[in-house]
Amino acid sequence: MSLPTLAIVGRPNVGKSTIFNRILGERVSIVEDTPGVTRDRIYGRGEWLGQEFAVIDTGGIDLGDEPFLSQIKDQAEIAIDEADVILFLTSIEGGVTDADQQVAQILYRADKPVVLAVNKVDNPERRQDIYDFYSLGFGDPLPLSGVHGIGLGDVLDAVLAAFPKAGTEDEDDSIKFSFIGRPNVGKSSLVNAMLGENRVIVSPIEGTTRDAIDTKFTANGQEFTMIDTAGIRKRGKVYESTEKYAVMRALRAVDRSDVVLVVLNAEEGIREQDKKVAGYAHEAGRGIILVVNKWDLVPDKDNHTLQEFTDHIRQEFAYLDYAPIVFVSAKTKQRLGNLPAMIGTVSENQNRRIQSAVLNDVLVDALAVTPTPTINGKRLRIYYMTQVAVLPPTFVVFVNDPDLLHFSYERFLINQLRKTFDFSGTPIHLIARKRK
Ligand code: GDP
Ligand code: GDP
Repeated sequence: MSLPTLAIVGRPNVGKSTIFNRILGERVSIVEDTPGVTRDRIYGRGEWLGQEFAVIDTGGIDLGDEPFLSQIKDQAEIAIDEADVILFLTSIEGGVTDADQQVAQILYRADKPVVLAVNKVDNPERRQDIYDFYSLGFGDPLPLSGVHGIGLGDVLDAVLAAFPKAGTEDEDDSIKFSFIGRPNVGKSSLVNAMLGENRVIVSPIEGTTRDAIDTKFTANGQEFTMIDTAGIRKRGKVYESTEKYAVMRALRAVDRSDVVLVVLNAEEGIREQDKKVAGYAHEAGRGIILVVNKWDLVPDKDNHTLQEFTDHIRQEFAYLDYAPIVFVSAKTKQRLGNLPAMIGTVSENQNRRIQSAVLNDVLVDALAVTPTPTINGKRLRIYYMTQVAVLPPTFVVFVNDPDLLHFSYERFLINQLRKTFDFSGTPIHLIARKRK
């Protein structure tokens, strides 16, 4: 489930964010609907030849008012820490500079594959100038034009070839989850309380990246792996405290998790930042549980408090209507014992497969309850439904014209599935295909 990761490094202005956005491609527009995620993005997912991977634009990690050279050195260090492959980006404008040499020095010491590209090669005549870049010592420099999109395919071919082969990482059957949330909502307290409660730590295992320490434990006979999100226990560097870096770590943890526990602070209510990571987890198709922590601090609770809070959350996170909500306290341990079972249920639901015959009974009933809409005199016809994937459960409906399946009817169909089967905690994807 863990995605291979590409990090882009290079001095300012060579075109890192241009290339980053090109690699993200049309996926950007999918996520654009999720409030807050797209602004100043430095982390996202790309795909090339069917291989999905994570991409980091290290140039977007603002390290405060450090001098220019130490900023790009730190960015290169982050790339080495986080990535499986590094795209070292330079520019034909200005040729090989001192700053390029500095970046190269740091990358030499790393035990990570480096793909060297020369950007801004907008026309073929300039191609002969790229030979200067052999002096950086990373083999063939690949010409690129970020504005025209030329050369990106060759660069991504080289990146894919350098990714570690799938299956080298330990495959295990444990359910992977993480606690995600703003600083101070109580993530580390929850981690410690949960591990203390279960008293069954098997062993801390090394994660894929150098600093991530995942912890395995067993509860109710099920094995779990808790993905470390903080990971910020290595060098006490400035960049570790920057918000963008913290957000990036959280998004990476989401990508490595089956189930994401989004932690909210009962005392402070819901903030914009809470929605960012939850939105990303939703887009990524991960299981989600909303954990309202510090419930002990809510004063004068009566019969209505819990319902009011629930209504408020449902309103703020409208697109997460499938996510269970649990009110806990890391301090008093209230309801913490429920978490492993809840995570287990969500995991089961993410992996649920429904037979086509059963699905089509549901479809027939649904069509009887709410007939398909007519758009511009043309009626949507749905012939057949089948499940094509799990994690998240993904269904294909065969129709007369996919453009006629609008959001509201799609939502209706998904709700019918949810009414009939237990898909709580997991997003459902529905795809319309034209029946030939
Ligand atoms: P970063 O600082 O490395 O992230 O660089 P940006 O992506 O912000 O790009 C810096 C400038 O170079 C912007 O004005 C881009 O439009 C421009 N740029 C990026 N790629 C190309 C390219 O392939 N050719 C040309 N001519 N300009 C480019
Ligand atoms: P993190 O930054 O999200 O990892 O948050 P921490 O686990 O460090 O917690 C931040 C602060 O909130 C600490 O002072 C904790 O003791 C406190 N805290 C965490 N959970 C609870 C809780 O359930 N109830 C109360 N009263 N305090 C809590």
